[in-house]
Amino acid sequence: MDTLNIWFLTGSQDLYGDDALHQVTEHIQKMVATLNESGSLPLPLVEKPVQKSSGQILATIRQAEADPSCGGIVCWMHTFSPAKMWIAGLSVLTKPFLHLHTQFNEQIPFSTMDMDFMNLNQSAHGDREFGYITARMNLRRTVIAGHWSHKETQERIGRWMRSAAAVAESRNLVVVRFGDNMRDVAVTDGDKVEAMITFGWSVPYFGIGDLVDMMGSIPTGDVSALIEEYRSSYTLREGMDEAFFLGQVTEQARIELALEKFLTQQNAKAFSTNFQDLHGMKQLPGLAVQRLMGKGYGFAGEGDWKIAALVRILKRMGEGLEGGTSFMEDYTYNLEPGNMLDLGAHMLEVCPSVAKGRPSLEVHPLGIGDREDPARLVFDGSAGPALCASIIDLGHRFRMVISEVETVDSPHSFDQLPVARVLWKPLPDLITASEAWILAGGGHHTAYSTALDATYLTTFAEMMGIEAITIGDGTSINQFRNELRWNEAYWGRGSLV
Ligand code: MN
Repeated sequence: MDTLNIWFLTGSQDLYGDDALHQVTEHIQKMVATLNESGSLPLPLVEKPVQKSSGQILATIRQAEADPSCGGIVCWMHTFSPAKMWIAGLSVLTKPFLHLHTQFNEQIPFSTMDMDFMNLNQSAHGDREFGYITARMNLRRTVIAGHWSHKETQERIGRWMRSAAAVAESRNLVVVRFGDNMRDVAVTDGDKVEAMITFGWSVPYFGIGDLVDMMGSIPTGDVSALIEEYRSSYTLREGMDEAFFLGQVTEQARIELALEKFLTQQNAKAFSTNFQDLHGMKQLPGLAVQRLMGKGYGFAGEGDWKIAALVRILKRMGEGLEGGTSFMEDYTYNLEPGNMLDLGAHMLEVCPSVAKGRPSLEVHPLGIGDREDPARLVFDGSAGPALCASIIDLGHRFRMVISEVETVDSPHSFDQLPVARVLWKPLPDLITASEAWILAGGGHHTAYSTALDATYLTTFAEMMGIEAITIGDGTSINQFRNELRWNEAYWGRGSLV
């Protein structure tokens, strides 16, 4: 996350005189330094001069907007800052915006405080004045209250920064499509123009032949070196003619190198494939796609560019955190009373960042796609809290649907299933969560993450101005159905805020 920073804007006014403003500046310097040294912020905070007039605020926010390294702004009113002077500046703000409601002193100095102290430390009402104007202007914003020295406050700011970094990523995201939307699948399709307007995604089409051409240009030595890397990273489960195994793995290594070169040339961080559009390919990309997801690329199968983009966005959000993010698909259920589970997998393409232990590199036949046996990584998912998220196109708007889940260790081994798989219990339970997911229209393809919780995603949705709905502990169908109806009343207007 070294390419972005967040600007820290403190509001005041000229009323208090130079001495008071000098103290305000000292306070900000201490606060910003402490926050930057806290270890909780993934992006640096950049201190800006105390904001004292409408013209200054407009100029500062224009600079923030023009600076590609600025990922968003944090505003805090140290003293009273009449909010009419914020209107011009906030009118041109499009970047993520956090209103931090804090104050310099942690405690009231009961025995020593006088009116000078009161005048200097009045965030409690300065931030209310500022809150009024942001509510009146109906700005997309996050409000975090708490003392700046407290770990919980620092961590919440850090989490907000990750959502902000994902916004910057989204607004520059290129999703390469090899092939188009597949067959007559509805949920994987959508309005690419609207996606560009709403999210910033560019979704160019390429024929798979372009990738095949690039595969021909990959040096043999590069392929051999990559296979050595496979040997050191995975358990090779050969169990078949050694030359055949190596040949199939070599083909995926060539696909991986060509794909990465292709995506780099297109400045793309996500891609999708289509197993009906494999002209000139010997294998469906399996291991190659898993490896690229492992390197941080977004991916989804069958031309599903929306989920490919979402996987990339969640990977960016979760950079450096424990756990991982993968393309996923709800496949089949265990409906045993008392032990209901959802098994997520795909034909091949699950990211090893969500694996428990060392993946096994295997070659097996694949019934669909009509190509040679593809090499793939096989593993079980790592247990713990996770989520599945989908973005769907409702025709007049996008909706993000999030399902909180608890991933579990499989009660039995999968001896015959030759793909990576993850077993989870949705919250509050599989029956309620599935009914809610289907009522919301969530797709079968998702971005699955063990690194993030729902708050990162709902904050991102707020920043992007899209609907988000979460299924989790406490969800009931009646409440959820009403929430969908209320959302329809709000978002159905076509309003962006
Ligand atoms: Mn699929």
